Amino acid sequence: MKNYLQHDPWCIVEDGFHREYNEITESCMSLGNGRMGQRGNFEEKFTGKTLQGNYVAGVYYPDKTRVGWWKNGYPDYFAKVLNAANWIGIDVDVEFETLDLATCEVRDFRRVLNMKEGILERSFVARLKSGKELQVKATRFCSIVDDEAGAIRYSITPLNFDGKLTLTPYIDGDVRNRDANYDEKFWDEVRKETGYAEAYLEMKTRKTGFHVCTGMCVEVEQNGVLIDFHSQPIRREKYAATRIILDVQPGQETVLYKYAVNLSSMNYAAEELMTQAHQYIKRISSKGFAEMRTEQAQAWDAKWQMNDIAIDGDTAAAQGIRFNIFQLNQTYTGEDERLNIGPKGFTGEKYGGSTYWDTEAYCLPFYLSTADQKVARNLLLYRYKQLGKAIENAEKLGFTNGAALYPMVTMNGEECHNEWEITFEEIHRNGAIAYAIYDYIRYTTDAGYLADYGLEVLIAISRFWMQRVNWSGAKKQYVMLGVTGPNEYENNVNNNWYTNYLAAWTLRYTLESIDTVKGMDAEKYAALVARIGFDEAIETAKARHIIDNMHYPYDEERQVFLQQEGFLDKEIMTVDQLPASDRPLNQKWSWDRILRSCFIKQADVLQGLYFFEDEFDTETLRRNFDFYEPLTVHESSLSPCVHSVQASKLGMKDKAYEMYLRTARLDLDDYNNDTEDGLHITSMAGTWLAVVKGFGGLRVEADRLVLNPYCPDHWTSLSFKIRFRDVLLQVTVTQNDVTVKNFSNQPLTISLLGEAVTVEAESEALVERGAEV
Ligand code: BGC
Repeated sequence: MKNYLQHDPWCIVEDGFHREYNEITESCMSLGNGRMGQRGNFEEKFTGKTLQGNYVAGVYYPDKTRVGWWKNGYPDYFAKVLNAANWIGIDVDVEFETLDLATCEVRDFRRVLNMKEGILERSFVARLKSGKELQVKATRFCSIVDDEAGAIRYSITPLNFDGKLTLTPYIDGDVRNRDANYDEKFWDEVRKETGYAEAYLEMKTRKTGFHVCTGMCVEVEQNGVLIDFHSQPIRREKYAATRIILDVQPGQETVLYKYAVNLSSMNYAAEELMTQAHQYIKRISSKGFAEMRTEQAQAWDAKWQMNDIAIDGDTAAAQGIRFNIFQLNQTYTGEDERLNIGPKGFTGEKYGGSTYWDTEAYCLPFYLSTADQKVARNLLLYRYKQLGKAIENAEKLGFTNGAALYPMVTMNGEECHNEWEITFEEIHRNGAIAYAIYDYIRYTTDAGYLADYGLEVLIAISRFWMQRVNWSGAKKQYVMLGVTGPNEYENNVNNNWYTNYLAAWTLRYTLESIDTVKGMDAEKYAALVARIGFDEAIETAKARHIIDNMHYPYDEERQVFLQQEGFLDKEIMTVDQLPASDRPLNQKWSWDRILRSCFIKQADVLQGLYFFEDEFDTETLRRNFDFYEPLTVHESSLSPCVHSVQASKLGMKDKAYEMYLRTARLDLDDYNNDTEDGLHITSMAGTWLAVVKGFGGLRVEADRLVLNPYCPDHWTSLSFKIRFRDVLLQVTVTQNDVTVKNFSNQPLTISLLGEAVTVEAESEALVERGAEV
């Protein structure tokens, strides 16, 4: 765990250059706008520790699978979000010396991510080997108003010299993914153009054939006015730049403005990209940096008005939740149903930026409560559109009759994960997709979705479960053999409680949904039955038999569900008995040792009790929490948030707070020693869950919004906004009371601290906390 970034409610601040942590800082200071994103790299050359990263949403490459021992059923490729052309680069040369913070002395260094306005700023003084000193101030953003563009203001002031300053703003498409399996390059050049103050580079991905045109134009200002300058275009393979040589005086500020765009063939015809890029550049540069920056701040302000969470009395906690919300908003805006939320978003390469079960299990509730309903619907439609591929995927593994197995990792619906214990066994992801349909309809009442799309997905997933279980003659029950639960620190186990429960629940919900759709629109139902060849009598009877006869491993003595059949054969030790030097286990222990140990990577039984909380009483949750939490190392970023929500429910305030901080500050404090690979974007939605479902106690029960909020002991107040159907609410919690403000023009009756309370339109209701809470 590290603690070098300063605590501030709205900014992430690195004061003084922490060279050894540079890749961590680059991850934390990433910028994005849903269409493109980049790490918090330097504009000028840097030969120190860095992962230069620029990414364009939806543009991927199918990197040939690399495995030691090929197994039938493995996918041929792993889809990677591509490191794309570097558009931020500006080389700075003073006479014959290049500015490079790895080789010169640096003082007064400060890098600040201003989350309120969506701006990254950096300032420093560099002393070159010759003794020449220059002060640099750089400001940059990825515009959320013009969401295929970014802009940079790069200011340089010589402190003790005069002479020639050479600035070379460039676009460099000669990049490679650090995580490339065979160290190949994934881009070919299509064309480039350079001009007096402009450069354009169009690249095309190998195999997938995406075109991306990156363009830039620059302006130079001295003494506060834009000046003409001499420039020299530079063109080499996959690179286009313009070199500008200026005369500078001590104390005189020179500012380079760089406007850039990244247009992809996902949104434009490939043959028009270059023309479109020219027009886009013209449009943004004529707005100018100052106006773009003002628009950026206003647009971020509008976002924060909708989904800020304010915590008073605890700066580390306040900064943590804002950081998480900020990064989620930078990653996915919900405007394009072809896109999804990669576990690392635009902040790194590991996990390929692809879609995981994280979206349905963790991210959906965040978008349901903080964005327009269509955003969550788009996330569901993304999977609906990939149903055909999920059926093909199951067929490849030997399943029939329209059974669907959604991939563990995907970009276009095809599986690209290739570790057998996950690809073939971590099938619980299928259930999360069914659960998301339930979660969405419960929250929105959009039952039309079920009739048009949801039921078809549910039947296909149910068909998979019905074939994946088998009847055990010995147990006289259905069992599910050879699976990996959410806890990836056990593989190939039998009867993972969570997976068995989820499978049977999916069957139950599918049966209910059949009745719902039949009741709503019998014709639509009949058309679906005919289209997918659904034999209602036989298939529903089989589903009922499985529901009634599923095996759930249970320990009578402790009265807990067993994570899997053989769990208690393991030597049971608690995490606090492990020496600190053994952690994280996945970096310190052999895989063999991990698999045989009782230590749990992430919520597994507790994940089930979280999803299906209405089906279990609090004492059951408590017994399972008390048993499993002490065995859990939380080495998946998705773990602490679920534990925090559960601990809040159980009144374990200290535990809830500890787990909250761990999820909220996971990347800022580098808890798992892996922030340098990129941020844990999907678990950031989990942080929101810890606040809104945990501290806020938000649920939907019997069609009513339920809030049971509390503030951790040392907080003065907690305030969050949520949308519930057509109503926007602000919930403010202090140690003494809860106020709910209704911004909409209709009243809403909610359950607040156990009482039915009607919050009238455009007014607020206050409930004082009773002594018992
Ligand atoms: C977790 C998975 C998760 C993946 C991507 C893994 O470490 O165990 O549950 O889907 O990360 O976030």
